[in-house]
Amino acid sequence: MKMSRLYAPTLKEDPTEAELASHRLLLRAGMIRKEAAGLYTYLPLAWRSIRKIENIVRDEMDTHDAQELMMPIMVDADLWRQSGRIDAYGKELVRFNDRHEREFVLGPTHEETITALVRNELRSYKQLPVNLYHIQDKFRDEFRPRYGLMRGREFIMKDAYSFSATQESLQEEYDKMKEAYANICVRCGLKALPVVADSGEIGGDTSVEFMALADAGEASLVYCDDCGFAADDEAASTTVAVSEGPGDGTLTKVETPGLGTIADVAKFFGFPENGTRKALAIIDAEGNPVVAIVPGDHELNDCKAEHVFGKGYRLMTDEELEENGLFKGFIGPVNLPEGIRLVCDKSLEGSKSWTCGANEVDYHFTGACPGRDFTPDEWADLVTVVAGDPCPHCGRPLASARGIEVSQVFQLGTKYSEAMGAYFMDEDGKEKPLIMGCYGVGVSRTLAAIVEQHNDENGIIWPVSVAPYEVSIIPLDVNDDLVWPVAEKVSAALAEKGIEVIVDDRKERPGVKFADNDLMGFPYQIVCGKKAVKNGNVELKDRATGERSEVAIDEVAEKVAQLVLAARA
Ligand code: ATP
Ligand code: MG
Repeated sequence: MKMSRLYAPTLKEDPTEAELASHRLLLRAGMIRKEAAGLYTYLPLAWRSIRKIENIVRDEMDTHDAQELMMPIMVDADLWRQSGRIDAYGKELVRFNDRHEREFVLGPTHEETITALVRNELRSYKQLPVNLYHIQDKFRDEFRPRYGLMRGREFIMKDAYSFSATQESLQEEYDKMKEAYANICVRCGLKALPVVADSGEIGGDTSVEFMALADAGEASLVYCDDCGFAADDEAASTTVAVSEGPGDGTLTKVETPGLGTIADVAKFFGFPENGTRKALAIIDAEGNPVVAIVPGDHELNDCKAEHVFGKGYRLMTDEELEENGLFKGFIGPVNLPEGIRLVCDKSLEGSKSWTCGANEVDYHFTGACPGRDFTPDEWADLVTVVAGDPCPHCGRPLASARGIEVSQVFQLGTKYSEAMGAYFMDEDGKEKPLIMGCYGVGVSRTLAAIVEQHNDENGIIWPVSVAPYEVSIIPLDVNDDLVWPVAEKVSAALAEKGIEVIVDDRKERPGVKFADNDLMGFPYQIVCGKKAVKNGNVELKDRATGERSEVAIDEVAEKVAQLVLAARA
């Protein structure tokens, strides 16, 4: 391929609308263009990378016993009525009528279509299990499409659906997909963690999200480097470490004038914030007053609080504090006014000496002991787990990170087969609903996540496995009788070895060429300059490390081919 023919309009300046590195760099490198909010054209370079990601996905699906097919993007709305999702899915679902006034949707996912497909065909246990997938554009009218390919309204997804006769068989299909998804991340050059999204009744997971680690990710995670545990911090549950407060364990009232914050109180007693107890005055979803107590250095987790206090719970206003006889900054579990429910974080259950507000202006207690000085109505999981808290599996300190959800595996069970009447005849002669699993990879989001993880101030650094071209050849003077033939010769030698090469044959200044090649992020650059060529050499640059070395013209193709072949996924 010749760069002079490439349709890749690069931008010198950062586009103002792009907040994330991936969005900015894909636009700047001439790889994507916006058509409207959440709708993008993949230009030739991006499309080459997308096809490589798709092929990695395909390869992993095929080797894990899934079969590719292709379903229509337009889905009869009636199927979505049968599943009961037509209204439940909400405004993200694109709905429209055809010329005969029949209603259709643009598939945001294809459980309905595939269940309708197999319900008349998979009739016997002898035909099971089956796993079917396709790679296709999906449509979701997202409320806030943003971050380029990260959250589009039209995006590319691989979605697979398995059908089994037994729960054990579903588990096997699910485990295979989990393994395939982990492989896909590795082969795409992504550092990702499998995060348990849902735990099953028997303790095993029934849904896992693969999170590519990136500061720009929307999800915030905690994970354990030692045992591999990872969880969304909203959902993570562990008994956080707490220290005891000051004093000898006897209940002591201490004057703390004006010290209404955790930081002030901790400083006053010369104790870490963790040794104090934070009180939150809440009105629960039913309108009743509650005081929640958490370790001083941890925050009430909104998601968990909703479970305990109901959707719509909120903090008390100043007037409500007064009405309930509570004093801001001095609320605590001891001597709580009548009628207020006391809920304490379960991490505090073993702690016997609390430093907390005394329910009296300008006073705190030290040495407050649950069971002796007050009795909580409930111990509940209330706080957001943070870095440093112990891993619930192995007890070692957790680390925190942000992540991008690139894929998800899910055990559906019989939800769709029952709703849509997809039954098979089992070995025992009984009709049973098909047991389903669904497995999605965001292909276009994966592309963005890769760029998010692989870039520097000069541009993208493609992992070889997904690079639009593996090698670029940069002749510095294309009109030079020595230089140009060398570029052509090396290019031909590489092409012969099956390496994907692009030659920067443009009549541009060296500075422009270097900048564009770095921005586009080809993993290896072979620079042909007059001086080196005269000595029988070219310069080889590794985009990832920035390392440069002189290599003999006759050897460079072999050397680069070896590097590329070793790095191909
Ligand atoms: P999110 O929570 O990010 O909205 P989701 O959980 O709704 O995603 P799934 O239904 O699990 O998404 O879809 C499978 C995969 O499709 C996701 O893991 C993600 O990689 C991708 N995906 C989902 N929504 C979008 C989108 N709007 N733009 C790009 N990719 C998406
Ligand atoms: Mg998901």
